[in-house]
Amino acid sequence: MARYNEAKCRLCRREGMKLFLKGDRCFTDKCAYERRPYAPGHAGRMRKKMSDYAIQLREKQKVRRMYGILEDQFRKYFHQADMMKGVTGANLLILLERRLDNVIYRMGFANSRDQARQLVRHGVFQLNGRKANIPSLSCRPGDVLTVREKSRKIPVIMEAQEVMARRPQPGWLEVDGANFKGTVTGLPTREDIQFPINEQLIVELYSK
Ligand code: SF4
Repeated sequence: MARYNEAKCRLCRREGMKLFLKGDRCFTDKCAYERRPYAPGHAGRMRKKMSDYAIQLREKQKVRRMYGILEDQFRKYFHQADMMKGVTGANLLILLERRLDNVIYRMGFANSRDQARQLVRHGVFQLNGRKANIPSLSCRPGDVLTVREKSRKIPVIMEAQEVMARRPQPGWLEVDGANFKGTVTGLPTREDIQFPINEQLIVELYSK
């Protein structure tokens, strides 16, 4: 599947905030956004007045890039969220949070969503005892994720285990690091997503 492969830090600089796309590096002084907190390119430092459309577009791009999703798939999530009961914007974020790659990242089995996606594709995880190699799979309450026995010595998994101990866990996930196991104990709520997102802007963009 096609995927954005250019320097990830440029995406943070373009969106004007840290999107935490590079794992531990994002928390160090090597973070490109900390060093150059302005958009890339010649006009990066110029202040421009943005139109309402541009503000909505940037908000959508920010969320899409944060979760590492291509435009078509993001739009499909929006339509799915729109068909669901409740608030469309919150539904959209909850659908994104439930993706298998995000759940693995949130559980701490990977340093970034991108890394989680790679590990999933390499068949490192099992979901409810069966091979799970589709990153977009939507997790449900009661789902149990495990790292396959033979993948437990992979360096990134070992490193992630250490990082996991330092990271706060969302309330809807339970992790048993010693047994390389995580359980989805419930559905995420809007309040579980602490990142500053104004999802209403995305709803307005797609409702035009
Ligand atoms: Fe973004 Fe992380 Fe790069 Fe910093 S290090 S600019 S947060 S991807």
